[in-house]
Order: sequence, then structure tokens, then C-alpha cells
Amino acid sequence: MSKVRIVLAGPRGKMGQEAIKMIEETEAFELVAVIDRKREDKPKEIAGAKVYFDAEECFKEMKANVFIDLTMPEVGFSNTKTALENSVPSVVGTSGFSEEQIALLSTIASENKTGCIIAPNFALGAVLMMAFSKVAAKYFTDVEIIEKHHDQKIDAPSGTAVKTIDLIRENRQSKQQGHPEEYETISGSRGGDVDGIKVHSVRLPSLVAHQEVIFGGNSELFTIKHDSFHRQSFMGGLKLAVEKVDEIDELIYGLEHVMGLDF
Ligand code: NAP
Repeated sequence: MSKVRIVLAGPRGKMGQEAIKMIEETEAFELVAVIDRKREDKPKEIAGAKVYFDAEECFKEMKANVFIDLTMPEVGFSNTKTALENSVPSVVGTSGFSEEQIALLSTIASENKTGCIIAPNFALGAVLMMAFSKVAAKYFTDVEIIEKHHDQKIDAPSGTAVKTIDLIRENRQSKQQGHPEEYETISGSRGGDVDGIKVHSVRLPSLVAHQEVIFGGNSELFTIKHDSFHRQSFMGGLKLAVEKVDEIDELIYGLEHVMGLDF
């Protein structure tokens, strides 16, 4: 059986390096090219794969089966758009795309009948955390989210927190939480606010990706917590998405649909 020919953007990043290991360890996968940021050293190869600095050139020259983007929001959007315009199924781990950007990618994917999976979190446990949060929101209207990431993360709140809020809002009765006259003596102390749901973003060295969803009830607290201690935790979901993306012809947002979780 022929191998899945993969192009990866962001090969030198922390996620990119883990993805290279995962590809190398998977018999059915082959890394054929990487899209790198232009830098002084300009290597011809990374992990045995040809290095490109231009996405358009890469997709025109390489017969890739799957493109993986693990970069930064603006460059990731541009890479993915180029991949889909060239009918290359795409798996995107890069977080921070706007709703408009996702809508545009969705249109291009459908027009070109090309699969695209965008997942704010590829950790299987994190997807379950989101699923359980949506269920809990039927029974608890008061909820706050604390998400913690390493201090090099550029966007806040995390894509996982945004997705969790979206899911909670599907089941939660709208409510402005807390004291109606509450005020901050230090700006931002109460965190971000979506429909009364507060979200707090912590950025510190040594953290990887962590989230607590805390529901407050009548004399009870219900906390759903997930920790990714290493970027390896994202590779199971990434591998699953690479295996499945060729079977779809539209954009899917969220690993839950790939995992068969109906939420
Ligand atoms: P990272 O270590 O900073 O790596 C970012 C990569 O993007 C590097 O290879 C970097 O190149 C490249 N890059 C940055 N700006 C660029 C530009 N202008 N042009 C081309 N390449 C550029 O970050 P990371 O921790 O690997 O995370 C990568 C992305 O994955 C982030 O968006 C993060 O939020 C996301 N993420 C997603 C999940 C998930 O499960 N979906 C989990 C963790 C992280 P240089 O090496 O040259 O700087």
C-alpha cells in the first residue's frame, strides 16, 4: 500500500518536531516536504524531507496527500488556504484563526471538495473534557474557565477555551454571573467574558496546556480538568486526523467529529 505523503509547515517548532517523530514512527506515513521560515542557515533537507519557503511552490511541485500546519495564526491561515486551493487535504493544529478565516477556508474546502480538519486541541482527553463540559452545562449555569499555557503562546484565550465556551453555550441557560454590581480594582481581574462566562488565561514557563472548567451549583462545585504534560499528548489525535482527512470533502472543526463524539 502506498504511503501517505505528508507536507509539514513549522518543522522546527515544538509541535512540528513531535509531529516529525510521529510521522517517522508511523509505517503508513512519509514526510516528503516541509515549509520552513526563511532563515540564515537555509537547509536543503529537514528530517530527510525537501525544504520549501514558499507554500504555493511546495504544493505545485509535491504530490502531497496531506498537509499539516503547526505554525502561527497568520502564516498558518495563508498556508492552509494555499493547500486547499491546490486541493491538498489539510490538518491544522495552529490555533488563533478568526471565525472569518475559518469560514473562508470552509468555503474553499467545499468548493474544491477537499478535506480539512482544524482542531484547537488534538489531545484525546481534552476533547472528552469539552464533551463533558457541554453535558454539565445543562445542569449548571454558573461556570468559569481557567486555561494555562506556556509563556510563548501568542493568542489568548486558547482555542480550546473558546471551543469549550461555544459548546457550553449550546446547553447553558444564558446568565450574567457573579454580583450584578461587581467591579475590578485591577483591570482584567475577572477575566474575559462571553455571555457572562468568565475565562482566565495564565501564561507561565514550564506549563504546556492545561484547562479547568469549574461549575458552581448549590453547595457543590463540579470541576473538569485536563492536563497535557508534553506535546506528545497531541500526537494521537493528530495521527487520527491525518488518517481521516482524505475521507472527507469539507472542513471539519474539532477532533470530536473525527472521534465519533456527537456534540
Ligand atoms: P513554536 O514552537 O513556537 O513553533 C512555531 C513554528 O511556527 C516554528 O517552526 C516557527 O518557525 C514557525 N513560524 C512562526 N512564525 C512563522 C512565520 N512567520 N513564517 C513561517 N513559520 C513561522 O510553537 P508550538 O508550540 O510548536 O505551536 C505551534 C502551533 O500549534 C501554535 O499555533 C499553537 O498554539 C498550536 N498548538 C496546537 C495544539 C493542538 O492540539 N491543536 C497543541 C499545541 C500547540 P521558527 O522555528 O523559525 O520560529
